Amino acid sequence: MDIRELYQEIILEHSKRPRNHGPCPGETAHAHAENPSCGDEVSVHVKVVLTPDEKVEAITFTGQGCALSQASASLMTTKIKGKSLPEAMATVKTFHAMMTGGQVTEEQLDGLGDAQVLQGAAQFPQRVKCVTLAWHALDQIFSGDGAAKPTG
Ligand code: ZN
Repeated sequence: MDIRELYQEIILEHSKRPRNHGPCPGETAHAHAENPSCGDEVSVHVKVVLTPDEKVEAITFTGQGCALSQASASLMTTKIKGKSLPEAMATVKTFHAMMTGGQVTEEQLDGLGDAQVLQGAAQFPQRVKCVTLAWHALDQIFSGDGAAKPTG
């Protein structure tokens, strides 16, 4: 199996069996993002615990869309879960840089783990929207009033 096939396999696997899909009990924030050109919609839910390091204790997503949007959301939740808020924000920043041809070090790429496979979509502008959808929703949470605030 070459590297391309392996990447396809990871994306297919996550789209068929998304991780952390569903409600997030005790969530502290959520955000919704849509990609009308493909019909994808994703809501990201996070639970951030109010410890000094503000850990993302739980992260889930709901919604529907193409395989790529679902796989990307699934990969994102596995990557973000358990991280401190600053670590999680840095991960989102690295991911966006990877998808938009920005500066990313080898070490930062390694830190993305399996989510690196999504870079293959960077050459297709329409697919970039699918891939970055969930990450934009998470970004909204982080850049909003703070993930630790209640959603009301
Ligand atoms: Zn899509």
